Order: sequence, then C-alpha cells, then structure tokens
Amino acid sequence: MAPAPDTSTQRHRVVVIGSGFGGLFGAKGLKDADVDVTVIAKTTHHLFQPLLYQVATGILSEGSIAPPTREVLAGQKNAKTLLGEVVGIDLDKKLVTSEVLGRRTVTPYDSLLVAAGATQSYFGNDHFATYAPGMKSIDDALELRGRIFGAFEMAELGASRGDNVDHHLTFVVVGAGPTGVEMAGQIAELAHRTLKHDFRAINSREARVVLVDAAPQVLPPFGAKLGDKTKRELEKLGVEVILGAMVTDVDERGLTIAFKDGRTERIDSVAKIWAAGVQASTLTKTLSEQTGAPLDRAGRIAVNPDLTLPGHPEVFVVGDMISLDNLPGVAQVAIQGAKYAAKEIDGRLKGKAPQGPFKYFDKGSMAIISRFRAVAMVGKLRLSGVVAWLMWLFVHLIYITGFKGRLTALLHWTISFLGRGRSERTTTVQQIFARQALEQLAGGAAALVSEPGEYDKAREEARRRELEQQAAEEQRLTDANARGINTR
Ligand SMILES: Cc1cc2nc3c(=O)[nH]c(=O)nc-3n(C[C@H](O)[C@H](O)[C@H](O)COP(=O)(O)OP(=O)(O)OC[C@H]3O[C@@H](n4cnc5c(N)ncnc54)[C@H](O)[C@@H]3O)c2cc1C
Repeated sequence: MAPAPDTSTQRHRVVVIGSGFGGLFGAKGLKDADVDVTVIAKTTHHLFQPLLYQVATGILSEGSIAPPTREVLAGQKNAKTLLGEVVGIDLDKKLVTSEVLGRRTVTPYDSLLVAAGATQSYFGNDHFATYAPGMKSIDDALELRGRIFGAFEMAELGASRGDNVDHHLTFVVVGAGPTGVEMAGQIAELAHRTLKHDFRAINSREARVVLVDAAPQVLPPFGAKLGDKTKRELEKLGVEVILGAMVTDVDERGLTIAFKDGRTERIDSVAKIWAAGVQASTLTKTLSEQTGAPLDRAGRIAVNPDLTLPGHPEVFVVGDMISLDNLPGVAQVAIQGAKYAAKEIDGRLKGKAPQGPFKYFDKGSMAIISRFRAVAMVGKLRLSGVVAWLMWLFVHLIYITGFKGRLTALLHWTISFLGRGRSERTTTVQQIFARQALEQLAGGAAALVSEPGEYDKAREEARRRELEQQAAEEQRLTDANARGINTR
C-alpha cells in the first residue's frame, strides 16, 4: 500500500473526496486559505452532469462538459489532485484509502470534505443495468449514444433484409424527471429532425419513443400545471407518455411494465435508458457505521445542521450524499454546501466564530423539453416555452466550467438548435460493449494490467494466459447463443 507522496508541510491538510460540483467548489473555496488541499476522485475530470443527455444524443462532445480537474485547479497552488476510487475512510486515524487499478494510496487529513455524489438506483433490481444503462457518467452517456444511434443502424440493416425492426425503432426512457424528459425529447428530435434524410430502408420518423414512470405525472417536483404542460409538449413531439406504470422486468429485447390495476404490458425495445432513482455513494455506509448517523432509503447520510458528522466536526459531507431538511439532489445544494464547508474550515483556522447552520438558497429549477421549449420554476414564478428555454441556455452557459467549454457548447448548440445537425454522432463498438465485457472479468480493468509492485514478466504472462482462456470461454458462450447480443 503506497502512501500518497508527502509534500509534508506544517499546514492544515484538507482532503476532498470527489471532483463533482461539491468537490470542485469545495477545493476552490479554499483557494486563499492557509491549507493544503488534496482532491481525490475516481475520474480525472469534473463532470457537468446536467448536460450528459446532450452527449448521449450527439449534441455535445464529452470534453466540453468534462474538463480535466487538474487543469481547472492548475492555477490554485495549494491544491493537488489524485486519481483514485476511495475505498476506505478511517475517521479515528483520519486516513483516506483510495485505489486505482489495484494500486492503493493512503492519504492523511486534518479536515475532510466528502462529496462523492450518487449513483443510479434500480430499486433493488441491479441486473436491469445490463440492458438499461443509467446516465451518471461520461461512460454512460457514450454507451447510450452508441446504443441510440446503433439502434437506427440495426433497424436499417434489418429492414434491408425485410425483417420486422420495431424493437430497434422503439426507445424507452424510464423515469419522467428532468433527465428522462430531456432524453425522451432529444430522441424524438433525433428521429423526427436530425436523422430524417439519413436512412434508405427505414423512416426514422416512425420511431416510437416511450417515456414511462410509476408516478401519476411528469416532472413531479414542478407541480401539476408545469407537469401537464410538459406532457402535452412531449406528446406534440411524438413521445408516448405512460404514467402510473412500474417497470417489473428488463431484458435484452425489451421490458415489462405493470399498471396499478394489475395489467401488464411488454414493450419490445433494444435501446432502453434508465433515468429513475438515485442512490447515494456507498461511502455513506462506512461513515454511518463509524458515527452512528442514520441513512435514509436512498442511502443518504443524516448530517448535523453544519454539514458535519456526529462526533466529527472535522468531517463535512455535502451534495447528493446528505439527508438534511429534505434538500433536493441538485447542483446548487452541493455547490452551496461545499462553499459553506470551505468557509467554515478557513474560519476555524483563523479563529472565527462558527457560521451557524447551513442555509440553502433555492435559485429555482428548470428542465428542457426540446429546442425552444423548457419549463422553469423560480420562486413563485412558473415559466414555460421559449422564455424558459432562453433562461435554461443562459444559466447552463454560466455554469459550464471554463471558457473553452462554454464556447464549444455555444457553437454546438447553434448547429443543433438553429440547424438540424448534430456534430457528435461518432460511436464505436467499444462504447457500447466495453462495460459489459469488463463486468465479465473478475477484477474489472485491474485484471488487465500488471499487479502492483515489481513487474514480474513470468507471472504477468501466466495471468494473461488465464485471461485469454476466460475470453475464449466467453466467445464459446456467445457462439452457442448463451450470451452476447443477437443481431435480430
Ligand atoms: C443526468 C443528470 C442530470 C442532472 N440535471 C441537473 C440539473 O439540470 N440541475 C441540477 O441542479 N442538478 C442536476 N443534476 C443533479 C446534480 O448533477 C447533482 O445534484 C450534483 O452533481 C451533486 O453534486 P455532488 O458533488 O454531490 O456529486 P457529483 O457531482 O456527482 O460528484 C461526485 C464526485 O465524486 C466522485 N466519486 C464518487 N465516488 C467516489 C469514490 N468512491 N472515490 C472517489 N471519488 C468518487 C465522482 O467521480 C464525482 O467526481 C443532474 C444529475 C444527473 C445525473
């Protein structure tokens, strides 16, 4: 186990876990503090999650919404970044253990800011993920891009042979929250506008786009009026909205939904997108075990009013991981929480009095339905249509990190919203299948690299032979139709 390279100073050490909204704004908030900041995150980038759906549907490139954290923090001399998935936090010894490709690093801290966010929740049906990826990471978005554009390609192939291709031309989005609405709206726009002249054997405009939710309305937090308006707008775009229906099964070829009256319906669809439910990072479990702070059903940890953990005033938890006063899982909760924690850490070192409980200032919510159509809630104000869409455009431009990202987003939006085109339609087989291939390897990506420590050629060759045998077995199962993707 390698300790983190120690640049040992007498300064107060702050470890920040995560490079999302909470992590990045927490680190930046300590820019002028007399501390050494170490950001540990499992990706090398800061991800602007609200625009992931645009990467998945070919509007934006991944680079424009995910700048390297190292570059963002390059000018902040008291901050450094370490790549690694945090696998352990020892609150007594004040140590964070992280891992990357089987290599472990232990980093000591004086203050800790935990901002590891949330993952997709399949409500206890994790096996659904194989065929209905969620949308939480760049990998997810690129996989979905491959699956969506790939479905049209498979439909063209099938139709050229005279096959029924309805299952390839049916797209199901599960979850009618902002992400689900945005995805369904964009797939409908792809089918009806972007791709309409591109195929010969199929008519992309005949694609069926279905949005399913167990709730009785679209966008529940936006209230009935905006919810109904959004539903109507989606239907105008050609989206079929099915409410009050729960997904009970998902497989390679489709899914089953069940209505409250006991009816069930099978929808044949190869490209399915899971946009329902979130589960806090599993790090809350270890924090709960060590402090007694309870977890809620979504795995979020109850924090003190000042965002610290019981008995550990040096540990702050922010963003999607926390359960406090019913705060929503939105970017502003993470940003404001992280700024508050950074100010508190700095203030303590300067001998200032505590700030008092964390207070969230709700700046409003918005969701885009399609080009020129959005809904927004700001205080008591309820907006829809072009005005809400322009507001969405402005707010997102402000919050995209870095000038480069803003400029490229603006350029791509001009191409997609004023024109018909989408400049980011590139997909590869690896984007679609690498996740499942890695999951079939015991040890994941770590199984593909040499073990930590000194390089032992003979041992690595033996390991490689083992992997080759494993791959041959997978191939045999695929050939026997016992695993893998069938072309029909
Ligand atoms: C598709 C989508 C659309 C959204 N749209 C909106 C929107 O329009 N408006 C809005 O306000 N909010 C939106 N949200 C919610 C918003 O993105 C989150 O509330 C916000 O990102 C939470 O910030 P966070 O810092 O808690 O977590 P995140 O931003 O998720 O950051 C978590 C960080 O922790 C890292 N991490 C996780 N586990 C570990 C580990 N074990 N070790 C090391 N690092 C780890 C991750 O790599 C990441 O860097 C959306 C979310 C999604 C997924």
